[in-house]
Amino acid sequence: MGTADPLQLHEQGKRTLVLGEHRSAVLFSEEAGNSCPNYWHFSPYGFCPYGCHYCYLAGTPGVWFSPTVKVFLNLEEILAEVDRTANQIGRPTAFYLGKLQDGLALEPLSGYARTMIPFFAQHPCARMVILTKSANVENLLDLDHASRTTLSWTVNAPEIVQRFETNTPAITDRIDAMRRCAQAGYPVRAVLMPIIPVGDWRETYGRFIVTLLESVPLSRITLGLICSYPQAQRLMELKLGRENAISLLLASPLARNGRGAGREGGERSDDGRIRFGRATREEVYRYLIGCIRRHRPDLEIGLCLEDEAMFAALDLTGSMGRCNCVL
Ligand code: SF4
Repeated sequence: MGTADPLQLHEQGKRTLVLGEHRSAVLFSEEAGNSCPNYWHFSPYGFCPYGCHYCYLAGTPGVWFSPTVKVFLNLEEILAEVDRTANQIGRPTAFYLGKLQDGLALEPLSGYARTMIPFFAQHPCARMVILTKSANVENLLDLDHASRTTLSWTVNAPEIVQRFETNTPAITDRIDAMRRCAQAGYPVRAVLMPIIPVGDWRETYGRFIVTLLESVPLSRITLGLICSYPQAQRLMELKLGRENAISLLLASPLARNGRGAGREGGERSDDGRIRFGRATREEVYRYLIGCIRRHRPDLEIGLCLEDEAMFAALDLTGSMGRCNCVL
């Protein structure tokens, strides 16, 4: 795109739609150094048009050098690969759409849900889990999904959305979309991530959790605190300056109560991500889990990108491997 400046490249990429074909769109994840299960994911889209300042996908090598928004036109071939893979596995298995893209942001352009959801509805083994911030659900509501597509939304307190998620659907619109999909019989989940404990975070998140749980009959909620890769943090600092609230938080003494500090002061964990120290993470999770339990004692709670010790400390060991990317 004629520039080597990472911020300019990123901004131009966000405004550029590429139509292409993807020959290796079905992959198995390679997480290591945390307790996340590995899982199958697929990519009829690449990256996304939204503008979250903290986006860590933007810092991954594939997106850093090619930050355009992509729609892959060989959907039939991609679903044939899902079919082959699922048949080889031979038992119900989730195929995740939302790891390397937003799963629904481009739906009004592509109309792919009207092919994908019926495909998964009739498949003996393949199941789909979509992760999105979109409110574009019109195409989904009348489909016969057989409960074999799970829809999940990344949500956050309105104050955080306003401050750190530019050009994304308002949280009220996301919640409305969740509610409508639940009414249409889809299993609906929430991923409350990245939790950014700024200001009076107990009040902000406590209030938001009540609104969410009273509005949507969730089947699972997954919590994850802010974490980042150095390259994603670099891009965020090019956008917001080095003194932005997230970098300051990650560099603060609160973030240093674990092992050695990363480049920006936050704890560099075994999986290479920079995150808050253990005591801060545990304190935030414990508070939010309390809020959830008071309103939905039965709701399944998962943690994203955490380690085994954190599950144990929060008495959630039975929930390990039952987070958003899997059935
Ligand atoms: S929705 Fe996800 S992929 Fe898109 S900008 Fe936000 S964090 Fe990045």
